[in-house]
This record gives sequence, C-alpha cells and structure tokens, in this order.
Amino acid sequence: MTCTSCGAQARPDATWCSQCHEGFAPAQEAVVPGRLVPLVHPPRPDQVWSRWHKSDTSFGPVGKVSWTVGMTLFAVLFLWSGNIFAVVAWCGLAMPLVMRSVWARARVS
Ligand SMILES: [Zn+2]
Repeated sequence: MTCTSCGAQARPDATWCSQCHEGFAPAQEAVVPGRLVPLVHPPRPDQVWSRWHKSDTSFGPVGKVSWTVGMTLFAVLFLWSGNIFAVVAWCGLAMPLVMRSVWARARVS
C-alpha cells in the first residue's frame, strides 16, 4: 500500500501512514475468485400451486382419485391373493412411486 499523502510504502493492513500519520480508508474485503453464493428465490406471489386442482402436467381431482382407487383395488387384490412378492412390489414400490407423482404439487396458474 502506498500513502496518498506522502508516497511512503506501508503494510497492506495498515490503517495509517507511519511517516506522515495520514489515515487510510478501511481496506475493502478481498474478493475470493470462484466462490459463488446460491441465490434462493422465494416463490412469486402470483404463482398458485396445488395438489388437488388440474394443471398442464397433472390430473384433476377425478383423475387423482381414480388412480388412487385403482391402485388401492390392485393392492387389495394382491393382499387377497396371498402373494407376498406381489404385495411387497405393489405396496412397497409401485404405489408409492405412482401416488407420489399423481399427488405431486403442480403449478395451476
Ligand atoms: Zn504518508
């Protein structure tokens, strides 16, 4: 750092000149290249999200309830059949995956 008043050299972290006692402006924070801070955008107030209403990419209430009833009927059928592998595959894998997407939150406006 060079003193703007007398031109003397000073340490980079000096707050005043040791030659003429001129005060230095506070040092600016060092810029660390390559570090990015993610910017979190809050949801815009004009967007409406829903698990129930129809959107461009999701069923309406009738479709959602129909899928749920249909999947449940097959689960009951597999339970009634006593096939433990079908029950585990259906209730442990297929139903959670399908219900998760059927009832997913979607933007409706
Ligand atoms: Zn100076």
